[in-house]
Amino acid sequence: MNTATTAPFLPFSRPSIDEATIAEVANVLRSGWLTSGPKVQAFEAALSEYLGGRIVRTFNSGTCTMEIALRIAGIGVGDEVITTPISWVATANVIIEVGATPVFADIDPITRNLDLDKLEAAITPRTKAIIPVYLSGLPMDMDRMYAIAKKYNLRVIEDAAQALGSRWKGKPIGSFGDFVSFSFQANKNLTTSEGGCLVVNTPEEARLAEKYRLQGVTRSGVDGIDVDVLGGKYNMTDIAATLGLGQLPQIDAIAAHRRSLAQHYFACFGADFEAKSGAQLPVADMENSNWHLFQIILPKTVVRADFMKQMMEFNVGTGYHYSPIHLFTMYRERGFKEGMFPVAEHIGYQTVTLPMFNAMQKEDVERAVAAVKSCLYSAK
Ligand SMILES: *Cc1c(COP(=O)(O)O)cnc(C)c1O
Repeated sequence: MNTATTAPFLPFSRPSIDEATIAEVANVLRSGWLTSGPKVQAFEAALSEYLGGRIVRTFNSGTCTMEIALRIAGIGVGDEVITTPISWVATANVIIEVGATPVFADIDPITRNLDLDKLEAAITPRTKAIIPVYLSGLPMDMDRMYAIAKKYNLRVIEDAAQALGSRWKGKPIGSFGDFVSFSFQANKNLTTSEGGCLVVNTPEEARLAEKYRLQGVTRSGVDGIDVDVLGGKYNMTDIAATLGLGQLPQIDAIAAHRRSLAQHYFACFGADFEAKSGAQLPVADMENSNWHLFQIILPKTVVRADFMKQMMEFNVGTGYHYSPIHLFTMYRERGFKEGMFPVAEHIGYQTVTLPMFNAMQKEDVERAVAAVKSCLYSAK
């Protein structure tokens, strides 16, 4: 047995919560206040400060945030919303959830984010909004994306689920723009176990967000209560907010660490890896991306499931982010089919996520790269 297979399992993602945060969670558990309370308020204030003073509201996922943004924007039946086929299915599901029609545009083969030419070509008189996704934490050309939105008078709901700590021209993603949604699910760079937040534009939007978050309720006076919109149950707990408060001060350091791991990935793969393996490395962005994921695209000749199984023989975990949304049964039933978005289909079937997490070390990168090379160089 070689050392690679006796080494402990290296997952593609693993959350790490420091002892101080765990102690603070224990304090909350003893405090008598578990649901939304002072910790949620403090977390919202801290997020707002990190995001340049914009208004932020927290929720129990980074899915309901997008649904609520669509509702705040008044988007529903008869409206079209354009997004990418390569995202977590939540991104498109929320469009259907509010009664609107999801429209996809193909992705750019290099960045793997929405191709802005194709996005613009997909706009119709019924288009009301776009939901761009920053896959792996890599932003798109934000200036151009917002110029298109302005030209066609569209709302933007940024699915920045993976992009907390990413930047554009030096500014944090979320510190500018229209609606911006983040997720704090367990695999994300910052996690509250489950959770999310939405950046909104005005106090009116924030009030609506609060209503949609909690049954449409508005309270007043000592015992005043009214309900004037149909809200749901989407509030964050103080337990979750405490987890977020513990990590938020580290978010730039987390991004910097992951960037150094990404840099090490590129160094270990070496300049000849793409030619030798037929695989494609991600964009080597060391400025904007928070390196939420490190993803390679396998050559067409390699069956992804076989590759993933082979990686397991080296005790290295992998993931796939994501399968093309338009080819899921529910979307096929809405008329989508193979061949509509060829770039997304190729990437969706051949993408593999390699290990990348906050507590990962350079030796882990070396192990992962050695395993990839063993699998791919022998496959070729
Ligand atoms: C994680 C993620 C979501 C959903 O976030 P949840 O908090 O799990 O609801 C949506 N879109 C993208 C791109 C994601 O990575």
